[in-house]
Amino acid sequence: MLEIVTFTLGPVQTNAYLIADAETRESAVIDPAWDGDIILAEARKRDWRIAHLWYTHAHFDHIGGAGAIADGLNPLPIVALHADDHALWRLDGGAPMFGFKIESGPEPAVDLYQGQMLRLGHVDIEVRYTPGHTPGHCIFYAAAAAACFCGDLIFQNGVGRTDLPGGDWDTLVNSIRTQVFTLPDRTRLLSGHGPETTVGDEKRSNPFVGGLQAS
Ligand SMILES: [Zn+2]
Ligand SMILES: [Zn+2]
Repeated sequence: MLEIVTFTLGPVQTNAYLIADAETRESAVIDPAWDGDIILAEARKRDWRIAHLWYTHAHFDHIGGAGAIADGLNPLPIVALHADDHALWRLDGGAPMFGFKIESGPEPAVDLYQGQMLRLGHVDIEVRYTPGHTPGHCIFYAAAAAACFCGDLIFQNGVGRTDLPGGDWDTLVNSIRTQVFTLPDRTRLLSGHGPETTVGDEKRSNPFVGGLQAS
């Protein structure tokens, strides 16, 4: 069974998700946003072993805690990121552009791709490639938990901005339509910012993409 702990951290209030298979205690951090020591302390308290850092995308506010987490782990966690966000990762996720400095942690060692199945203990998690906010943005869908970690693709009543380098509006809308709105309506959407929502709620009421049919 998948357990999920949510943190809201850092200068732009980014959601980081510490997840684990309750049975094996194998754990991953989806978007170690900031304050890695806080995430690490929570994992230790629960006796969870963080083996993976999975990034929806490489913006600094989603990876800023990676260095501190890695400093506290041996062996180092394995970092997974889509190849099309590697260039952004090498620029510290744009941190200097916004006046921040981050410790970006270990280099990405696993390339995420559409349809890839990640395993956390006994829990399967599907990777869906969802460019538009950044060129290499991906989301993580845990079907058994009816939960999707969707980064900065879609928020409650909002969508990711597309005015930063590599962003594209039509691509973003297409990603939401083909990769999010095709999930069951009851699926929880755990976004990179703001409160959680569901696929059904966003199909009905999202002012940017609501009313679009899944296809
Ligand atoms: Zn972002
Ligand atoms: Zn963000």
